[in-house]
Amino acid sequence: MQLSNDEIRRYSRHLILPEVGLPGQKKICSTSVLCIGAGGLGSPIAMYLAAAGIGKLGIVDFDNVDFSNLQRQILHTDADVGRPKAQSAKETINGINPGVEVVIHNTRLTSENALDIIKPYDIVVDGTDNFPTRYLTNDACVLLKKPNVYGSIFRFEGQASVFAPHLGGPCYRCLYPEPPPPGMVPSCAEGGVLGVLPGIIG
Ligand SMILES: [Zn+2]
Repeated sequence: MQLSNDEIRRYSRHLILPEVGLPGQKKICSTSVLCIGAGGLGSPIAMYLAAAGIGKLGIVDFDNVDFSNLQRQILHTDADVGRPKAQSAKETINGINPGVEVVIHNTRLTSENALDIIKPYDIVVDGTDNFPTRYLTNDACVLLKKPNVYGSIFRFEGQASVFAPHLGGPCYRCLYPEPPPPGMVPSCAEGGVLGVLPGIIG
C-alpha cells in the first residue's frame, strides 16, 4: 500500500519516529482491531487507534448511552444520550479520521457469536466491564490465536497487559483461572470510578 499526500501530512509525527517510520505507519494502516466495548476503556482505545490511522476498527457494544457514562466515556457526547453506543462511537471515530473503516457490531458478545465476530480481525482489545465477557473474549482469542490486549479498571487503579499464548506466554485464564463469584467485585455503577482512569489504562 502507498500513503497519500494527506496521509503523509496526517501521520508525519509517526513518520519521523525512527521506531515507526513509513513501514510502521503502513502496518498500522493495514491492521484491523476489534474493540470489545465502547465505554470507558473503549473510548480512548478507539479514539487513539483512529487518530493513529488503524485500517479497520470493529466496535462491539449493545448498550445505549446514559448520562452517567459521560463523565468518562469520551466517545459519546451529551447529544448522544439514549443512542446506541456503537453508532455514536462510529460517528466520533470518523470525525477524528474519516480514513478508518468502522464496523459496528451492535450486539452482546456471546459464546454463539464470539468466534464469528472476532475471526476477521488481526488484534482484539478487551475493553469490557464484566467478567463473563472478559473470559469469553480470552477463550475465543486463545482458540483463534489472536493477540488479546487487555485492560481493566477499578475505582482508582487499573491493569493492562497483552496476552498472546500462541506466541508464548500466558492467557488471561492462566493468570486468573476462575472468575470471581458474581457480586464480589463491584462494577463502576456500584463502586464508582475516577473519570480519567479508563483514559490512562485505555
Ligand atoms: Zn491460558
